[in-house]
Amino acid sequence: MNTLNTLLLHNTDQDIARAGEILRGGGLVAIPTETVYGLAANALDGQAVAKIFKAKGRPQDNPLIVHISELSQWNALVREIPPQAMALAKSYWPGPLTIILPKSGIIPDEVSAGLDTVAVRFPSMRTTRKIIDAAGVPLAAPSANLSGSPSPTCAKHTMNDMAGRIEAVLDGGDCNFGVESTVVTLAGAVPRLLRPGAVTPEDLREVLGEVEIDEAVMGKLKEGAKAASPGMKYKHYSPKAEVTIVKSDLEAFCKMAEKIDNKETTFALCFDGEERTIPLKCVTYGREDDSLTQSHRLFTALRELDEQGAEKVYARCPSTDGVGMAVYNRLLRAAGFNVIEL
Ligand code: AMP
Ligand code: MG
Repeated sequence: MNTLNTLLLHNTDQDIARAGEILRGGGLVAIPTETVYGLAANALDGQAVAKIFKAKGRPQDNPLIVHISELSQWNALVREIPPQAMALAKSYWPGPLTIILPKSGIIPDEVSAGLDTVAVRFPSMRTTRKIIDAAGVPLAAPSANLSGSPSPTCAKHTMNDMAGRIEAVLDGGDCNFGVESTVVTLAGAVPRLLRPGAVTPEDLREVLGEVEIDEAVMGKLKEGAKAASPGMKYKHYSPKAEVTIVKSDLEAFCKMAEKIDNKETTFALCFDGEERTIPLKCVTYGREDDSLTQSHRLFTALRELDEQGAEKVYARCPSTDGVGMAVYNRLLRAAGFNVIEL
């Protein structure tokens, strides 16, 4: 598989034009966005999209998000745009929100993984939009990690996962939010949140009124249950270490940490400043009272745990309010749903 000579492109007009050429020609380019790095292909070319699944080792039943650079491009991708969907787009696009609607005939089955709906996002990062414009087509792009690994939030992490597998990585700096977009489906009777992100349930309710939260968001689907968002059923975002989320205050966490025998390869994933108190090796993931710093740091922190040789990780539990729901949702999957309460 690792046979391509992956180019490192930069955020210049010339390199963005080069990325556009590669994408138009059916190749794969990893691109920066305000959420995480995406692995892009021409969304209207089924053969190009099929390469994404191969490069990532992504399960075939997990559909992709289509990225556009202007609102008007949405029309051709979906059967119709109901008023609720347009209201949502007017409020939060461009931005970290993905909207699912019944798909039009031009969406290849490879994009929708056999579903009759399509997920669309209009990103706010200017570089992303310039790349879509240079390609001249909408871009299908899942996160640019190997399937199962934490999503990459900088070009270096993207290159670590994708070198040899794709034509190019375009370095646009660090991602602002650091977790993937909010995914909401408007294809059913009641709007439903499938994946939490920087656009919160409260934000959605302000525009839509009632919004259901899919049961896979905050917990594990029951054996045999059908996932509304196929991506949510997999163990995901994982470092190599075994991760346990610990619901407790700092004092109880420290008492538990004191009793751990193997302090060589057991780590704490904790909030900024707590490394001075917790009697374990620590990797921090943002301020306890600030979900946005946590979302910005989480995936980098998970990769740092691997680099430092962590085998067991005890994670301080984040608040689940607002953007915190997205942080908890990702950490829960990194932990394979392993949570203890002290
Ligand atoms: P990623 O691109 O890695 O951020 O993953 C995209 C997420 O959106 C996954 O969880 C997918 O399962 C979900 N998704 C994409 N398209 C659809 C769709 N048509 N219906 C339901 N979920 C979708
Ligand atoms: Mg992903």
